[in-house]
Amino acid sequence: MRPTAISADRTRAVLTIAWDDGHQSELAFALLSAWCPCAVCTEERNNPDPLKVVQPKSADLESIQPVGNYAINIVWKNGCRYGIYTWEYLRELEAIQKSGRHA
Ligand SMILES: [Zn+2]
Repeated sequence: MRPTAISADRTRAVLTIAWDDGHQSELAFALLSAWCPCAVCTEERNNPDPLKVVQPKSADLESIQPVGNYAINIVWKNGCRYGIYTWEYLRELEAIQKSGRHA
């Protein structure tokens, strides 16, 4: 399964993905940023420091680059530049968004 079109709507802060099975995903920038898969953010999610004051991350999208034919790299203005979002991960995030599990 792979996208046929990806577009970022900065006004609504939503990433829209059209998949080749006809499904369409709308993923909020806030969700994508909160689940940034870069090494630093993954470590923070897996081993949260109980004493650290967690600041909500800004979710300003700078750019999106294709990575091979399996992922996109989303560059955030908050400094996260290395998050590789695979197609599977994006579908997982959509499930998380639907479940309302994300803050
Ligand atoms: Zn990150």
